[in-house]
Order: sequence, then C-alpha cells, then structure tokens
Amino acid sequence: MTEWTKKTATLNTGAKIPLVGLGTWQSGPNEVKHAVEAALRAGYRHIDTALAYGNESEVGEGIKASGVPREEIWITTKLDNPWHKRVEEGIESSLKSLGVDYVDLYLMHWPSSTDPTDLKKHYPDWDFVKTWAEMQKIPATGRAKNIGVSNFGIKNLEILLNAPTTTIVPAVNQIELHPNNPSPKLVAYNTSKGIHSTGYSCLGSTGSPLHKDPVLQEIVQKTGRTSSQVLLNWGLQNGWSVIPKSVTPARIVANFDLDGFDLEKGDVERLSGLKDRFKVCGDSWLPVKVFFGDDE
Ligand code: NDP
Repeated sequence: MTEWTKKTATLNTGAKIPLVGLGTWQSGPNEVKHAVEAALRAGYRHIDTALAYGNESEVGEGIKASGVPREEIWITTKLDNPWHKRVEEGIESSLKSLGVDYVDLYLMHWPSSTDPTDLKKHYPDWDFVKTWAEMQKIPATGRAKNIGVSNFGIKNLEILLNAPTTTIVPAVNQIELHPNNPSPKLVAYNTSKGIHSTGYSCLGSTGSPLHKDPVLQEIVQKTGRTSSQVLLNWGLQNGWSVIPKSVTPARIVANFDLDGFDLEKGDVERLSGLKDRFKVCGDSWLPVKVFFGDDE
C-alpha cells in the first residue's frame, strides 16, 4: 500500500517533486491564503500557482502564515503568455508577489507568445522556441531550480526538442489529465523524453461531470472512497503528479487523505477506458492553435 502523500517523482534534474499538490486556479482573493495555509497544515508540500491566476501574493501570504519552512515547500509558478519577450521580468514579478527568493519550478504556461498590446495577436517575430531559449538562462540565476512547460502536445514538444537553441529538456509538462481526457500517447511521449507529467484539472475542474460517472460511482461504492480520492489515485497510479484545487478546508484535507489506498489495476484501466470526452482548457481563446487533436 502506497504512502502517496510522502512520495515524490525524480525529475530529469534530480529534483524531487511531491506527487500531490494544491491547485489555485480560480481560488480568489480572501480564500486562497486560507486554502494554502490549510493545505500546508494538512501536510501538502507542493503548491501550484501562476502569474495569470492573479493570486501569487495571497499564495505567498498563505505560505508564510502556515509556518512551514520555505525549503520544505515545492512552489510552481508560470510565465504568462503576454510575457514571453520579458522572461526575466516575468519571474522577478512572480518572486516579488510570492515573497520568495526562488521557485522550485517555473513553467511556460502555454506555447503562445501573445502580444501584450493586443491579446488577440501572436507576435509575428517570436515563438515558444525563443521563449524557451530565454527560460533556459533562469536555473543558473537561482531564481527557479527547475524549468518546464505546460499545455504542450506532442507536435509542439517535437518542435521544441528539435530546435537548435534547445539545450535543456523541460523537467515537467503540466497537462490536462482526467479520465475524460487521459492523453496516453502524450504521457508516454513525455516519459520517453525524460519529462515528468503533472495532471491539471485532475478532478475535471469546476462543476465536473466526472463525479457522477457510473463507472466511477461503482468504484466509489466498492472502495468506500470519495469520487475525488478515486480520481486522484487514478492519476497517481498512472504515474503523474496531481494538483487538485479546493478552497474548502474539508475537501483540502480529504484530497490529501490518499495514503494506504490503491485502486485495483482493473479499475484503473476501466477509468482510463471511459468513452466520454471533454477538455476543460481548449485553445480557442488564444491567438494561436496549440492543440492538434488527441495528444498532438
Ligand atoms: P480541479 O480538477 O482540481 O477541480 C477543482 C474543482 O473541484 C473546484 O470547483 C473545487 O471546489 C472542486 N473540488 C475540489 N475537491 C473536491 C472534493 N473533494 N469533492 C468535490 N469537489 C471538489 O480543477 P482545476 O481546473 O482547478 O485544476 C487543478 C489545478 O491545476 C488548478 O487549480 C491549477 O493550479 C492547475 N491548472 C493548470 C492549468 C494550466 O494551464 N497549466 C489549467 C488548469 C488548471 P472548491 O474549491 O469550491 O472546493
């Protein structure tokens, strides 16, 4: 029986990322500080935020209020799309808001280099390969211990990894992963390149229809675990880290109550084989297409 909450995955840099973290997208002001504090007090040691979430300052306050030493906490934040030409400024802004000297992981949030003067436009003279070239300078400055990407499908990863300027393989690719968007080919591709996968919207996000899925409900009845716990174990047993978001103290605790529980292999496979499909985060709001069909 696995002690999931104490487990880490070793990244291609040698760093160890805790497998269960707290997500903070849509965690508003006046709630996220308390959520982060509650999570750290409940034992979480991994917090996921982003410049684009507009809540890094409150996340930082929650970290301080918890009393947990900085070095015991894994902090991930992300470079926002309109900041692709200002990577150094982007990370400086995040560090200042969070009130820390470094983050453990700095991700390119999306492979979209958006013009900040017109968010509907992609820069004509810039792309994610150039952004990554800038991001590669960060680990040497100590501002981020590890760098990675997010929302990269196989097609864009191939472009990135084959670019002559790419000298660092991303440590992590943070992607949408739940049983209605399992992306097995992309996860296998990440693994084959030494890139750790982190699953976002791992509960299916706000208003998730997954909780009512009949197969999931059957497993809930059989195991006596909650639908969220089953969904999180499904991700963990498939080999990626999970970052469930909640601002509700009881749920924050329940989502971390995963130790000593393993789904039967057949149940993991049944959840991977659900027929329904939905994606929480598409690319229609971006000035450039970033998803090219399943896993691509
Ligand atoms: P999740 O799949 O984590 O679901 C969050 C929703 O589930 C909230 O409405 C929450 O409600 C509810 N919830 C949490 N726990 C339970 C529970 N035990 N029982 C019932 N409902 C529950 O969604 P997210 O889309 O937020 O994804 C998780 C994290 O991944 C984000 O917060 C963010 O950090 C990251 N992310 C990254 C993206 C990227 O582009 N890289 C994109 C999307 C997400 P409540 O809070 O009210 O308790």
